[in-house]
Amino acid sequence: IAKKEGAVVSFFGQETQKAAHERLLLESHLLDALHQGELAVYFQPLVSVRDKKRLVGAEALLRWHSPELGNVGPDRFIPLAESNGQIIEIGNFVLHEAMKHAAHWCKRSNNPFKIAINISPLQFRERQFVEHIEDLLDLYELPPGTLELEITEGILLQDEHHARASLARLRHLGVQISLDDFGTGYSSLSYLQKYAFDTLKIDRSFISNLEFNEQNRELTRAIIAMAHKLKLNVVAEGVENAFQEAFIQAEECDFAQGYLYGKAIPAEKFAEKFTH
Ligand code: C2E
Ligand code: CA
Ligand code: CA
Ligand code: CA
Repeated sequence: IAKKEGAVVSFFGQETQKAAHERLLLESHLLDALHQGELAVYFQPLVSVRDKKRLVGAEALLRWHSPELGNVGPDRFIPLAESNGQIIEIGNFVLHEAMKHAAHWCKRSNNPFKIAINISPLQFRERQFVEHIEDLLDLYELPPGTLELEITEGILLQDEHHARASLARLRHLGVQISLDDFGTGYSSLSYLQKYAFDTLKIDRSFISNLEFNEQNRELTRAIIAMAHKLKLNVVAEGVENAFQEAFIQAEECDFAQGYLYGKAIPAEKFAEKFTH
């Protein structure tokens, strides 16, 4: 038995070392990825559920193509950038790119357009964050109501007082706030009342199981109904098939995103596909 335990320990020891090695490798390449032009902002269509899948906006999603490592997903490198502070600079790049393109699309289209941008807790906690958003809205002449910042509960857990004040100032500017990944983490219902959000995004893990999981159907139904009682818009993430679409339609979900409508694509492609 003692020998077996030893084998198990060394097995995990090796795995951890391998993971640490990979992290170091990623991190060293990430350091100059931005300056080497390896990062790009892609856009995933956001559609209206009620209005015949009409395109109403996009979520900006970061992509990294490293010549050495290939494509690295944001789930792998965003946490790294958060831990070494690089997320400030990278997040700033996303804000510029996304707002610049959105402003362009708004001007060319007669319909209102919404641009949703993910904000990391570290970014949100920056002293000048709200002023920075205000400056960017001016710089790109983007109507404030067009911008939706996606935050997660992590932001609210850390410094409630600051979070509340910043959210209030953003809303005063006319910027919309959405609570991302709802249904994972704490998903405290009290947050929904405490902070005045505009939108709630139901996590993909609920939507992707709708056809197999009765409990997820019940929860999705309840979340949509509750959000509507609180006068929030609801976005279903990760809609991939007709069953899932029919379900959220029947439950009167407001907006949807997912491969059924389109993956995230570069700005030029997005414009071609959606502004004509
Ligand atoms: P998220 O904010 O929850 O973004 C949604 C993720 O679901 C995206 O993954 C998107 O490509 C994926 N997705 C959308 N529809 C479908 C679908 O129908 N099926 C499946 N299987 N997946 C779908 P992505 O782009 O890999 O991003 C992962 C996460 O990385 C994001 O989750 C977000 O937390 C983070 N992230 C991405 N870009 C940024 C950024 O610019 N800033 C920050 N702070 N985080 C970002
Ligand atoms: Ca998001
Ligand atoms: Ca999400
Ligand atoms: Ca997520």
